[in-house]
Amino acid sequence: MPSTLMSFHVCGRFRDDGSKAEASVSLEKDRAKLIQHLRREIEDEQVLDVMGRVRRELFVPTSSRCFAYDDRPLPIGEDQTISQPFIVALMTQALLLTGSEKVLELGTGSGYQAAILAELVRYVITVERMQKLAHIAKHTLEGLGYTNIEVKLAQRTLGWPAEAPYDAIIVTAAAPTIPQTLVDQLVVGGRLVIPVGSRWEQDLQQVIRRDEGVTVKSLTRCRFVPLIGEEAWDEG
Ligand code: SAH
Repeated sequence: MPSTLMSFHVCGRFRDDGSKAEASVSLEKDRAKLIQHLRREIEDEQVLDVMGRVRRELFVPTSSRCFAYDDRPLPIGEDQTISQPFIVALMTQALLLTGSEKVLELGTGSGYQAAILAELVRYVITVERMQKLAHIAKHTLEGLGYTNIEVKLAQRTLGWPAEAPYDAIIVTAAAPTIPQTLVDQLVVGGRLVIPVGSRWEQDLQQVIRRDEGVTVKSLTRCRFVPLIGEEAWDEG
């Protein structure tokens, strides 16, 4: 990561000097710089445009708002993280969205990725296993006026089979292998983007469901928190 992208603000400054306007101008500049940085590796203009509009600072704890546009993951509580912006952009681009899709996300977390998707497609169903995170994300997304996102609490089976099939599925937590349950929830031609590997390091994969089986393309090395459940990791 280039050092120019590291934020040198002290978050406290925003609270202490009482100047909210100054803070928000500074964050807008940070966001524009981040988009320029992403542009070096992300080609999809629609993805860059949306990431230039959705305010990531509203999805992180107040204490780390000033770091919202550093290109790195940030803690969101419950030992979970909001993904690095580059990874959000890369995954979104790999879903090959055109606007009419119904998309499933596993791992709502802060709700940021769901908001990015909701700007690009018809409908988003996002599933989270931690009640507290699901609750906060729902509140944030409703507050921002999104009406095309449904936040669901995870059940035993991975994903949300009740509303399948989906045109695209994004998994923002790491799985040991490609879960067949999720492939089954895709239309033929549908895309699944998922980190696959060990608990500590994974390969980000774009999986496309074909008439028979799937094709798999590797996108980059990455590091996600574990996906917990059937066909994934045990808790702890
Ligand atoms: N997409 C999020 C970041 C996700 S972090 C964002 O934009 O902020 C990964 C999340 O996956 C965690 O919140 C974790 O609780 C959740 N998770 C883990 N296993 C899951 C499962 N089986 N179903 C749904 N969510 C799961």
